[in-house]
Amino acid sequence: MTREKIYKRLGISQAVLDFASKTEAGLKGRFQELDETAEYNQLKVVGAMQEAKVSDIHFAATTGYGYNDLGRDVLEEVYAKAFHGEDALVRPQIISGTHALHVALSGNLRPGDELLSPVGKPYDTLEEVIGIRDSVGSLKEYGVTYRQVDLLPDGSFDYDKIARAINGRTRLVTIQRSKGYAVRPTLSVEKIGQLIAFVKKIKPDLLCMVDNCYGEFVERAEPTDVGADMIVGSLIKNPGGGLAPIGGYIVGRKDCVERASFRLSAPGLGKEAGASLGCNQPFFQGLFLSPTVVAGALKGAIFAANIYGRLGFSVMPNGTEPRHDIIQAVTLGSREAIAAFCQGIQEAAPVDSFVVPEPWDMPGYDSPVIMAAGAFVQGSSIELSADAPIKPPYAVYFQGGLTWYHAKLGILKSLQKLVDRGLAVLPDTAGI
Ligand SMILES: *Cc1c(COP(=O)(O)O)cnc(C)c1O
Repeated sequence: MTREKIYKRLGISQAVLDFASKTEAGLKGRFQELDETAEYNQLKVVGAMQEAKVSDIHFAATTGYGYNDLGRDVLEEVYAKAFHGEDALVRPQIISGTHALHVALSGNLRPGDELLSPVGKPYDTLEEVIGIRDSVGSLKEYGVTYRQVDLLPDGSFDYDKIARAINGRTRLVTIQRSKGYAVRPTLSVEKIGQLIAFVKKIKPDLLCMVDNCYGEFVERAEPTDVGADMIVGSLIKNPGGGLAPIGGYIVGRKDCVERASFRLSAPGLGKEAGASLGCNQPFFQGLFLSPTVVAGALKGAIFAANIYGRLGFSVMPNGTEPRHDIIQAVTLGSREAIAAFCQGIQEAAPVDSFVVPEPWDMPGYDSPVIMAAGAFVQGSSIELSADAPIKPPYAVYFQGGLTWYHAKLGILKSLQKLVDRGLAVLPDTAGI
């Protein structure tokens, strides 16, 4: 059977295939650059594993208190080395990215301190962590206040307002690298470095934390290379490489990681306790695969930007600009179109391909969300997934793909659905 025939069996029409092939042909140079970044980051990770002398004894599972869990300690050493931090906390007891961020924030802030976000509103789930939306147990309840400075309309930092927002109580600056569910540009590592330098010049003892979700291994440098005191993320996104079944990480300055560890476990216990159960081996192996997995996801994101951009939809980032995270936003403009898109992604999945996604009130979000995910790990968004809050401008956020070929199939299926329902019109491919 030819490749075209097998695509047709999976429901992709000749017209969609032709349009996709023409689009893909123009992306060779881009894809080569991604492969070179993956190569660089692969060497970084292997180097860290060799330096830390990773051995198969480190894959052994521990139980109970997990004292002297060698594998856990070496894994944390590898994360610290690979991300150029002094120390790391990498645990299956961190249940998500939101939890990791909560642990980092609440471990490093004290009553009377102020938290500053100089990059606008943080990710939806952090609104309750911080207390922007009243919530039981929020930082606000513990007497930590919050201040925010929005980005300027062109996406740049509002340096004047940031300077005025920093006061005697400002203790921690939180910088979200990825756009998350906001329609704004993702920050490059270079820009994050400029912002950190600026705020530290005003107040040198400020702690700078970067929410690194979806950013790991997209560039050659990480925020820890440009002055971040802590980077924080989820293992069911980039650094878990699709193999981590759960987990989160905090990498950075030793004292910051230590304070976070006392919040994760208990004062006095810190990093010493916490069994890794059977997670060490997939954590190591997932990190090892992550640079190439991230490159595959980026190819999918760039392909989607080019496909949907050519069809006249607003795409962010656009098809040609540099990437700083794996998320692709496509503004489809209607509830019907985002549903069609998500249903196409779902139909491409290796797991639960027969399920039809519907909007639901997901905990932590302020509007219904529709999600497409046919993942091996529930909610994993390094696996091919798409989600969209049901509110204007009806933008869908697309990310992941453990392989480029699967990401591509997902995009073709989404496009096919839109075309079949008259929600998108293919251009005359002869002219491209
Ligand atoms: C995913 C994400 C989070 C939260 O992570 P969860 O694992 O979904 O709790 C926080 N910030 C950003 C930018 C994210 O993308």
